[in-house]
Amino acid sequence: MAGSMPLTIALSKGRILDETLPLFAAAGIVPSEDPESSRKLVLPTSRPGVSLMIVRASDVPTYVQWGAADVGVAGKDVLLEHGGVGLYQPVDLGVARCRMSVATKRGYDWSGTVQRGARIRVATKYVKTAREHFAQKGMHVDVIGLYGSMELAPLVGLADVIVDLVSTGNTLRANDLVAVEDIAPISSRLIVNPGALKLKRTAMQPLIDALAKAARP
Ligand code: AMP
Repeated sequence: MAGSMPLTIALSKGRILDETLPLFAAAGIVPSEDPESSRKLVLPTSRPGVSLMIVRASDVPTYVQWGAADVGVAGKDVLLEHGGVGLYQPVDLGVARCRMSVATKRGYDWSGTVQRGARIRVATKYVKTAREHFAQKGMHVDVIGLYGSMELAPLVGLADVIVDLVSTGNTLRANDLVAVEDIAPISSRLIVNPGALKLKRTAMQPLIDALAKAARP
């Protein structure tokens, strides 16, 4: 499959890796050692010439966009925030599914706030996506960028609402928060550098096709 051209695949540890490795295995690509426990950032695979690069989830589109990796797997949340410039997104892998939602403290009068057109503070790590969402609704918001534990922000008065990923809803419930609005369904996508696809099509197209076949509908 790899032909003579080397192929690098950017992946991030955690949920995406757990759910994506079986799809790559179905496409005949198995890392030489467990990426979750290995300290190596570049791992050879069972397929000669194909290697995995382990990067931070939010960095995957950047590595692929600049051609440091030929393909990658990134959450739609990360792609919305990145903007997707310079990337093909040929396959929705259907893994790491969740939704991006607006959440508030239980009892917060969300519909009243929207109706009044009150200015609100939004805490999130998805600054661009949140800004665009509320601009589309015609709402005036101050977006406060955080790197983690967004759920804390409404509890301590840092923000009125948060924009975060919700899967089971357990994290919101545990912190007395409720989702009041969905922004987008989220799943992981295969992303491809267009230049690399042109140059290495014989190596890349079979991989894209095999992953499309293995993807979860
Ligand atoms: P849950 O409690 O199952 O609703 O999960 C919510 C927590 O897990 C939040 O901190 C989210 O940021 C994180 N989370 C949920 N789904 C995903 C995903 N697909 N990718 C990354 N983080 C996620």
